[in-house]
Amino acid sequence: MPAGITASAAAAAYRFVMTELRRCRWCRRALPERKGPGRTREFCSPRCRQWDWVSRQRARELALSEGELVIAKSALDELHDQLYVLACAVDDAERDLDPPDGAPTPDDVRQALDWLLEAARPLRDRELAAPVVPPSIPS
Ligand SMILES: [Zn+2]
Repeated sequence: MPAGITASAAAAAYRFVMTELRRCRWCRRALPERKGPGRTREFCSPRCRQWDWVSRQRARELALSEGELVIAKSALDELHDQLYVLACAVDDAERDLDPPDGAPTPDDVRQALDWLLEAARPLRDRELAAPVVPPSIPS
């Protein structure tokens, strides 16, 4: 944990993002605060809106329930691989930041942070596509 950020502050920030912010219905990223009148935004981008629509169409075709989703095995494998790398990085960072011989050095903290960021970036940048892309979305 970087200096100045306590575990409870990080937990509070996580809780805020997960419960207080409005998030994109498809990719779950936080949506910007809406100012002024008009419909509440449900998607962060036209692409997410399209993928959500495609997903619901495919779910109807396959008679899936609201909470079910078909995902390509390769996409799920890639996600599991990235989660595994992140889990290893968290384990390594926890060990490196609490060495048995005293406090971690600034180099230890920097290396732990660099490794955590390297492991987390693919998850930050990833997107899950719907199974197929339709020619257009009815409005
Ligand atoms: Zn989105």
